[in-house]
Amino acid sequence: MYLDEIEGSPTLELVNLVLQKQAKGEKILSLAIGEPSFDTPKEIVEAAYNSMLNGKTHYTSSYGIPEVREAIRKKVLRRNGINAEVDNTIFVTTKLAVYASLQAVSQEPYEALIPDPGYFYSEPVILSGGKPVYYRLGENFSLDMDEVKRKVGNKTKAVVLNTPANPTGKVLGKEELRELYDFCCEKGIYIVSDEAYEDLVYEKSHFSIGSLEHKPEYVISLFSLSKSYAMTGWRAGYVVASQRVVHLINKFLENTLTCFPPFIQYASAYALNHGDSFIEKFKQEFFKRRHLLMDSVGRIDGLKLSTIEGAFYAFPRYKVKMGSVEFAKRLLERHGVAVLPGSSFGPSGEGHIRISFSGSEESIDQGIKKLGVFLSDAT
Ligand code: PLP
Repeated sequence: MYLDEIEGSPTLELVNLVLQKQAKGEKILSLAIGEPSFDTPKEIVEAAYNSMLNGKTHYTSSYGIPEVREAIRKKVLRRNGINAEVDNTIFVTTKLAVYASLQAVSQEPYEALIPDPGYFYSEPVILSGGKPVYYRLGENFSLDMDEVKRKVGNKTKAVVLNTPANPTGKVLGKEELRELYDFCCEKGIYIVSDEAYEDLVYEKSHFSIGSLEHKPEYVISLFSLSKSYAMTGWRAGYVVASQRVVHLINKFLENTLTCFPPFIQYASAYALNHGDSFIEKFKQEFFKRRHLLMDSVGRIDGLKLSTIEGAFYAFPRYKVKMGSVEFAKRLLERHGVAVLPGSSFGPSGEGHIRISFSGSEESIDQGIKKLGVFLSDAT
């Protein structure tokens, strides 16, 4: 696999347009970016700072420092019901963990099933030498097991799962996850479960598919501190998986990055051990923003929105006849509002836009009003 075979980021063109406009001094209302508008809590920053002052500035084990691995073990038992040993854990940022996990389970030739619409999983599959195969989501973006079964073939090594989901805001329940789990175990297929938004669930509760295992075996659970504690720039996350998979991911880290910075790991251990109140505070804020967004989008005639169950995205279908890239570009050109085109998230995303409500209430309010004007002009 060569890097020049990988297409550029699907959203890059739009992001570049936004940057050009901002450089010219134009005011852009961004409903495109997927990161909390809050700063990292002071206590977590202090934990990093103090550890640096205490000389925690050297290489560490590629698996992670013992303190953070123990904090991961305790957290996944307490919050996710996953029964893991320290040896089942490794500290690695979630985005890299997607690739590293796929690399760990890959064999030549291999296929991995990825959700459509879904987050940007096709490139990591290709990078790890595999072929991405889309499985279309069912009604209201639910998991359609018949579709998964249809798409599984003898080269399938992994099914990628994302709940709560980006871009759809869907949260999957225990029953559907059990069905997937039973099926994958029977076939000997790994489940790469991306739970980056585990703490942003509004009505249901989050269920970790890894909790169905007595000890980690087929499920590779991926978690992130980015959204839970407003730590996107820290590159902090972790994987819980079988010792074999953890060992393989470690091989990858050992031979590439060596390790994540120790002060990031100490601060992450602090967040995992003492940070539940931060999660709750951020969640309350997102709850308000979600309400505002659902209310204002609900009043726009040209948009059809499913209930946002988790994460901080709305993924409405629009009624005008226009490609989603064209839609996003025109909305930006005419009204200075940035959203992402649904087609970036897979073929079934066409006809949708992704609206992020991770920004301020003011930007959501103004942006959605302008979106309403754009749609009424377009129809
Ligand atoms: N998985 C999903 C579904 C995401 O939306 C993101 C980031 O937006 C990631 C993984 C990457 O997480 P991190 O930035 O913590 O590596």
